Amino acid sequence: MIIGSHVSFKKDQLLDSVKEAISYNANTFMFYTGAPQNTMRSKLDEEKNKEALKLMKENKIDINNVVCHAPYIVNLANNKELDKYRFSISFLTEEIKRCEALGITKIVLHPGSSVGIDRKEALKNIIYALNMVLENDLSVVICLETMAGKGTELGINTEELKAIIDGIEKQDLIGVCLDTCHLNDSGVDLNKFDEYLEAFDKKIGLNKVKVIHINDSKNIIGSHKDRHENIGFGTIGYSTLVNIINDKRFENIPKILETPYVGDTDDDKNRLYPPYKYEIEMIKNGVFDMNLKNNIRKEYKK
Ligand code: FE
Ligand code: FE
Ligand code: ZN
Repeated sequence: MIIGSHVSFKKDQLLDSVKEAISYNANTFMFYTGAPQNTMRSKLDEEKNKEALKLMKENKIDINNVVCHAPYIVNLANNKELDKYRFSISFLTEEIKRCEALGITKIVLHPGSSVGIDRKEALKNIIYALNMVLENDLSVVICLETMAGKGTELGINTEELKAIIDGIEKQDLIGVCLDTCHLNDSGVDLNKFDEYLEAFDKKIGLNKVKVIHINDSKNIIGSHKDRHENIGFGTIGYSTLVNIINDKRFENIPKILETPYVGDTDDDKNRLYPPYKYEIEMIKNGVFDMNLKNNIRKEYKK
């Protein structure tokens, strides 16, 4: 089982991320190379990166399973403000260069939001931008994430993802990241995951799936909300999610948890504890633990 979670990328950069992943008993992880909502990026520390790679090796974390996530502010869909569009293209290019320097082979990207322009135009903008980014001789695979359909997001069904992928020149460098919360919120019934995959395979090909984000959802199918919930505590449910994790077809694909930190009370925003060590353990156990959140609170208070 290749499973991990979103982790932070702090002062010691990838070394911090690896240490955090190990503390969760994970064998992979996903990180942002800086704050996801801004474009401030620190210079990469080569020495720390060497240490990070060594630590990964010692802990059997295959760097090919490690994933970077592009920042939210990159929007390749809207070109109304040309400066912003151009900036998104160059920033994503820089981000991919950073991945390459770190040794990372995959980056997850939200395709973008159309905000006020025609959706077909928006798809064309994404294709143009991605081809521009990929013109640079880089070998990082861009994985388009399946989106929930919040606001004017694109990539909210297989057809839209296919439309983008079909327009990409360098086919080896484009893939998909399935996100279970987003699929649910976009209207896919994950109890019928096989049906979804069959259609996906016909249109895009299952070989394009490179990453899976495993999240439960706070909202019902088709809600277009995108609010993640801890595994088993949402509307998708424990067994459906564990079945997806254990699906033989995705045995070699990294599964990444992006579930929320647990607060002292359900709506406590001050004291928050990372749930990943406990969620990974619960997934491996194969049994849902309805006391998971309370146990996490107790553990961290020790
Ligand atoms: Fe995402
Ligand atoms: Fe996601
Ligand atoms: Zn999400």
